[in-house]
Amino acid sequence: MNKTADIVIIGGGVIGCSIAYNLAKKGAKNIILIERKYLTSGATGRCGAGVRMQFGTETNCLLAKKSIEMFEQLEEELGYDDSIEFKQGGYLLLAYTEKMVEQFHKNLGVQHKLGIPSRWVTPAEAKEIVPHLNTQGLLGATFCGKDGHCNPFKTTDAYVKAARRLGVEIMTYTEVTKLLAKDGKITGVETNKGVIESPVVVCCAGAYSRDLAATIGIELPLHPERHQILVTEPVEMIQEPMVMSFYHGLYCQQVPHGSFVMGIGDPNEPKEFNYNSSWQFLHEMAAKVTFLLPPLANLRVVRQWAGQYDMTPDRQQILGSVPGTEGFYLAAGFSGHGFMISPMTGKLMAEYILGEETSLPIDMFDFTRFARGQLFVEPSVV
Ligand SMILES: Cc1cc2nc3c(=O)[nH]c(=O)nc-3n(C[C@H](O)[C@H](O)[C@H](O)COP(=O)(O)OP(=O)(O)OC[C@H]3O[C@@H](n4cnc5c(N)ncnc54)[C@H](O)[C@@H]3O)c2cc1C
Repeated sequence: MNKTADIVIIGGGVIGCSIAYNLAKKGAKNIILIERKYLTSGATGRCGAGVRMQFGTETNCLLAKKSIEMFEQLEEELGYDDSIEFKQGGYLLLAYTEKMVEQFHKNLGVQHKLGIPSRWVTPAEAKEIVPHLNTQGLLGATFCGKDGHCNPFKTTDAYVKAARRLGVEIMTYTEVTKLLAKDGKITGVETNKGVIESPVVVCCAGAYSRDLAATIGIELPLHPERHQILVTEPVEMIQEPMVMSFYHGLYCQQVPHGSFVMGIGDPNEPKEFNYNSSWQFLHEMAAKVTFLLPPLANLRVVRQWAGQYDMTPDRQQILGSVPGTEGFYLAAGFSGHGFMISPMTGKLMAEYILGEETSLPIDMFDFTRFARGQLFVEPSVV
């Protein structure tokens, strides 16, 4: 099977699917999206799908704010006959140190300039928002009622169905084994089913992007980092917002059918692919979440699993072209917050690839920032 395409997209996660849809919506033709397993088999289908605009930099606040506006209309925009289950129950971000209090106040300043409806709340007010919250040691929190979470499978499905209707070809169970480039230009990809020639290749392969870029001698400063997560049995609704503590590295939400979904990060994870779940995670997760939200101690865990964050040195995504390899584009390195900005990322990348002016600047996320030493520092990430 040898083929030709105008644009090849590698990766059937939410980012690749959003980019494919946005390119096709703008009239690009002959697009092929390649996924080595099933759609959402990477980080997207393993994630918490939390969506928040409470960031500390203007750029990320805007990316997330615009994305939330798009999530609000996404079913209509994509003509989706199901629900992406976007629930705007808010995000409660907890502060346990004076440094965090100071940072959160700075973040609020940035957010308010952009019209984000977030606010400072005292421990007593936090308890009004989440009555079962243990406020021991809590100095305060910020809350934004427009934040929330989605169903990541249905969100991706909505993009895929819309992209297919616009003519995008989706090839699942097809692995890109090598990128192909000649004379400083990308020429296509080699897959386990044959070669696809294309003058444009967009790499959205999550942490695997590093290995793919290496096949044409590009060194991506990107590594996988395991993150574990679990789901409990469904119970009656008691918690509207996502509760998040950077101090404990923890997030916990109750999804629409009543299950709690929660995860914690481990700063000592090795920089390698690991899809195993551990009892240490279960133990630490249980200890931390039952301290913060004591009634959850009575819940039974149904399943735990692991996925990979695609981490960059500044924990921010790499978006745009790669100097020296014309036609090769990157949208990878989302470092644990790619789902929430997927609508806007798809739109911006489509504009960029088609040579249009982007609706928001993306140059601060370019690949060469690492070599220049101009890292993009976002203070509000787990
Ligand atoms: C436990 C966990 C919790 C998270 N929680 C949140 C959250 O609450 N909010 C949030 O915004 N983000 C969250 N994230 C991060 C989020 O999941 C990612 O940033 C986002 O899904 C990235 O999407 P993607 O399409 O770039 O990557 P992926 O979903 O990983 O997609 C990449 C795809 O490329 C495919 N691929 C790889 N190599 C090849 C190849 N050689 N050929 C063909 N296909 C290939 C993979 O199979 C994969 O399907 C979380 C992540 C994890 C792991």
